Amino acid sequence: MTETYTESNRTEVRINSERLRRRFDEFNEIAATEKEGVNRPSLSDANREARDQLVEWFEKVGLETTIDEMGNIFGRRKGQNNDLAPVLVGSHVDSQYFGGRFDGVIGVLGGLEVVETLVNAGIKTERPIEVVSWSNEEGVRFQPDMLGSGVFCDRFDLEYAYGRCDKDGKTFGEELERINYRGDAPCEPRDLHRYFELHVEQGPYLNEEEISVGVVEGVYGFSWMNVSFEGQADHAGPTPMHLRNDTLVAMSNVVESVRQITATTGTDLVGTVGSVDVSPNSINVIPESVEFTIDFRSYDNETVQTAVDHIQNEIQWAGEREGVEWDVEEIMRVDAEPFDDTCIETVKRAAEHTNVEYIQMVSGAGHDANYLNTICPTSMVFVPSVGGVSHTEDEYTEWEDVVAGTDVLLHAVLQESDGR
Ligand SMILES: [Zn+2]
Repeated sequence: MTETYTESNRTEVRINSERLRRRFDEFNEIAATEKEGVNRPSLSDANREARDQLVEWFEKVGLETTIDEMGNIFGRRKGQNNDLAPVLVGSHVDSQYFGGRFDGVIGVLGGLEVVETLVNAGIKTERPIEVVSWSNEEGVRFQPDMLGSGVFCDRFDLEYAYGRCDKDGKTFGEELERINYRGDAPCEPRDLHRYFELHVEQGPYLNEEEISVGVVEGVYGFSWMNVSFEGQADHAGPTPMHLRNDTLVAMSNVVESVRQITATTGTDLVGTVGSVDVSPNSINVIPESVEFTIDFRSYDNETVQTAVDHIQNEIQWAGEREGVEWDVEEIMRVDAEPFDDTCIETVKRAAEHTNVEYIQMVSGAGHDANYLNTICPTSMVFVPSVGGVSHTEDEYTEWEDVVAGTDVLLHAVLQESDGR
């Protein structure tokens, strides 16, 4: 490109909507589902194909591509001063089994579009800019989720990650090797100036408000609990009601309590019983045992704690009322993660600069940005999910919102890559 850099093209530059759309369409032909979603779980053949396509595009745009030990893919555009820490943008390209076409992909293809826009406009930056695709964000095939960014940010060690098994007993390490994405670059924290992640909201707020962009100030904290009740199986016919120790009745009380607690504790608290295993699970037998999960989330850590304390009492009372034994184990607790104030302001200014309407909001879902936030200043840009729907093929974002969000990402990156 022969265009030269001027202050005005730096101010006025916008991403190329057509090019981005073509990329999306081509990328999402890989393992496309009938309902226009994608099926590219982590380290599957389809995931490999998506990675290959990405690497091809990175190289075509002139990015120096690096793959680390976790299969995280980085594309780097040099700056004027390569001793400076880079601005990093990205997300993930693995998907749920039947997931949406924008979840994760928008952050990676959006990041690539940002860099290509700068290349084509002849805009040079002081700092290098890198685009990343993190491995195993979804956590559907290998748990836990956000494994690639988790190792990168020192949350998990490499051996732990390699040993994660899918339901067929295949390990993350073996599968990474099989698809040829076990790279040489060390997967460990390094000096980063900023991290910005563009992502679909996965909730209803932006869509309801008809606003194109959410400036994300942080992510909800949460508690995950496993609960079990142990009672007595018996025949559903001859056993009178007063002689029953029915674990499913105890559980129903707790489910009801979860709903009650969310209505009375903190305005943003959400609570879910999402997984239930009842035994013997038979039409004419009183349920002897039941195991289920509880998920509480809020942006306020004390609210989560209050909910946990409250539900533990409810579990005990439900058990005593029904005459069954109970057990509660908190298997995971993550505090709310407020993002960096400077980065939040940067994203707001970028939205104002590009004349995009925005609101400041909190993310209910976890993202790679949570972990990045622990090693470098971070924020996120959200775009609306139509109907608030995600993790299904029906997930959708209007194209004009994709463009608006990517332009905001572009100008956030431009502000932060000038070397100050
Ligand atoms: Zn995602």
